[in-house]
Amino acid sequence: MKIATKIEDIQEQITLLKQSSSSIGFVPTMGYLHEGHLTLVSEARKNNEVVVMSIFVNPLQFGPNEDFDRYPRDYERDIELARNNGVDILFLPETGEMYSRDLSTRMSVIERVNVLCGRKREGHFDGVVTVLTKLFHLIQPTRAYFGLKDAQQIAVVEGLVKDYFFPVEIIRVPTVREKDGLAKSSRNVYLSEKERVEAPALHQSLLKAKNSIQAGLRDPQQIISMVSETINNETSGIVDYVEIYSFPGLKELDTLDGEIIIALAVQFEKARLIDNQIITVNAKENKNV
Ligand code: AMP
Repeated sequence: MKIATKIEDIQEQITLLKQSSSSIGFVPTMGYLHEGHLTLVSEARKNNEVVVMSIFVNPLQFGPNEDFDRYPRDYERDIELARNNGVDILFLPETGEMYSRDLSTRMSVIERVNVLCGRKREGHFDGVVTVLTKLFHLIQPTRAYFGLKDAQQIAVVEGLVKDYFFPVEIIRVPTVREKDGLAKSSRNVYLSEKERVEAPALHQSLLKAKNSIQAGLRDPQQIISMVSETINNETSGIVDYVEIYSFPGLKELDTLDGEIIIALAVQFEKARLIDNQIITVNAKENKNV
């Protein structure tokens, strides 16, 4: 595995790959790698000659009161995990070089952003598209791999790629979970022992909602109440939001139909966790339950 820390190094490596017309699978991450990230790598491995991973905790996507400073980092461990799991080139840029001067243009997300985490985390997705634009230009990937755990991120990135004709295919990868259903996340380490026992209720509440939809329930408000109630009853976390939209358009729905997302965020003492379910609904099967 090659490690590039300088922009010039990665550009040199990518130029060589482009000369040999190698397909490049790209996995952008913020590190503190877990099985979720490594699943993106193994998906990338299947269809590309070369797999590039980036690890960069992007300051631009954290709000002033968020966890940028204490976001978990362990570069030594990440390097070993990347090396042993099929990464060919690991790009570890320095913040000073990624943002070496004040930006003279600003990227601003205007669709799919005033809902879910976008509404709660002002400027977050502007930071995401800014860093991805830089990374896509540097890496020039054939395909880029994103986890459905961050479903709004995928919706926003698909919009970015379409708007600006990035010649990259965005691949959606299903959420990887712990045995008890908790979505794997770098932030899970911040859960207390008690919170860790409670946290699978997030996934359980979404499965319960999914079952009700499959049984015929179509009223978004009823489903939202059911999910919030389960989380309030079974965890000490505070529900930040439970919302339902079309996916990937993230438009409000009066009744459930087509591809929809139920997504939630729950604030525990030191960790804010998100999860979602994407479900295909057929309105014609509506039964009043
Ligand atoms: P992060 O390092 O949290 O920015 O995540 C980097 C990439 O890994 C994003 O595309 C995430 O959606 C994806 N990812 C994180 N956790 C999971 C998971 N549990 N399952 C699948 N993908 C994930």
